[in-house]
Amino acid sequence: MTAYVSAFELFSIGVGPSSSHTVGPLRAARDFARRVADAPDLARITTELFGSLGATGIGHGTPDAVVAGLLGHEPETVDPAVVRGAWTDWVDGAALRVDGRAPIAFAREDISFAPRTRLPGHPNAMTLRAWDATGALLAEDTYYSIGGGFIRREGASAAVSAVPSPFTYGSAAELLALCDEHGLTIAELARRNEEATRSEADVAAGLDAIWDAMSACVEAGLHADGVLPGILRVKRRAGVIRAQLEEAEAGTGRETPGEWLGAFALAVNEENAAGGRVVTAPTNGAAGIVPAVAMYWWRFLADAGLGSSTAVTPYGELVGSALLGLHAPDEGGEVGDADAAAVAEANRRRGIRRYLLTATALGSLFKANASISGAEGGCQAEVGSACAMAAGGLTAVMGGTNRQIENAAEIAMEHHLGLTCDPVGGLVQIPCIERNAIAASTAVTAARLALRGDGEHFVSLDTVVETMRQTGIDMSTKYKETSEGGLAVNVIEC
Ligand code: SF4
Repeated sequence: MTAYVSAFELFSIGVGPSSSHTVGPLRAARDFARRVADAPDLARITTELFGSLGATGIGHGTPDAVVAGLLGHEPETVDPAVVRGAWTDWVDGAALRVDGRAPIAFAREDISFAPRTRLPGHPNAMTLRAWDATGALLAEDTYYSIGGGFIRREGASAAVSAVPSPFTYGSAAELLALCDEHGLTIAELARRNEEATRSEADVAAGLDAIWDAMSACVEAGLHADGVLPGILRVKRRAGVIRAQLEEAEAGTGRETPGEWLGAFALAVNEENAAGGRVVTAPTNGAAGIVPAVAMYWWRFLADAGLGSSTAVTPYGELVGSALLGLHAPDEGGEVGDADAAAVAEANRRRGIRRYLLTATALGSLFKANASISGAEGGCQAEVGSACAMAAGGLTAVMGGTNRQIENAAEIAMEHHLGLTCDPVGGLVQIPCIERNAIAASTAVTAARLALRGDGEHFVSLDTVVETMRQTGIDMSTKYKETSEGGLAVNVIEC
């Protein structure tokens, strides 16, 4: 069996605030709209949102996403402003052009909520029905939003990527054994899997586009202010912290990387909460961790020691282009004869490709063998998985071995086991935004610990993944993206 999910599926560019409650339902509604738009007697489409989608759907923008999907929009290209309010501000009876074509009358009540009904396929379920003018049913499909923006239509084959990967593995142990057998880094193995369906240049360009979207999201969040949408009226903090750090650094002349790390994560998750353009990593709720750790490396560590074999940064890590082997052609793309700045930029981009590919190979294991869905496994499945992906990726770009990478991912996941999902007000804001900043810090700590060891460790990544799966099964549904327990019931929404 293969656990491998393409980087271009795991890191998909979409809209906030939730991959499972916004991006997935948008994709499901779009798929249904395409299937029924040509039905000659189509007069009405209704949508029922079950389980977690019904419980926290309004706070997560699910009905807005359904309307955007019925209109034929794609999460990758739709203007986030079009999704926001698509249902909330809908004028009942106005014409909705299904898939941009067939006009039908649509009312807000055509989307209904059934939080107490849990379908057996997945906690995030939705059924769409198409009707003619006499009320006769023309078509009906049930979809499951299984996390990270992935969907599965009942009766259709599994949603896990069917990429014909040359290197198939079902566990971290098999992944390490494959790398040993073929003399590959984890990133190299992932790159070869990607190149089964894309050219080397396309893989490199695609990874660069993912990074560009991530870094644009960080920048947007760092330069925004005001209050986030929703009843909690949560103030955005990333922009304020950016201004404070810039002022402090200008005064002292000293950088504060650890504080920036948290600000990067807050920036992404505030953009997500505002319904902005976000990359799933591997979900929207946990979207800040992978970009924040990558930005931390890009900004504070990547150039340190370029040209030397063992440079030591002010933070104690060993870094440097020779140590990273960034001139080896293992992530695709060539470093040209441009000036030093261009070479440094090219090296950083190669490092980011390595980071993303390593994170992909690890994230695939969580998706295949446990879950990346908060509604299925609690927050351990979202933030825990993202933290492990970031820890492994950082270890890779810091020159870690495959076993140190596996160790870092294991450390990061181990200390998120049991983490519940209890978003206040059903919004992806509290505790989600701060939680990403904390997890980014944990990812860096996990990478540092792993890099100080030799890769030997007591608990394997596979054991932790299986423990996360079992813990998710045992966890009460109150703590799985229903907002029926934990902080969600102990914090007064005002
Ligand atoms: S608590 Fe965690 S899993 Fe739940 S919505 Fe927030 S980030 Fe996602």
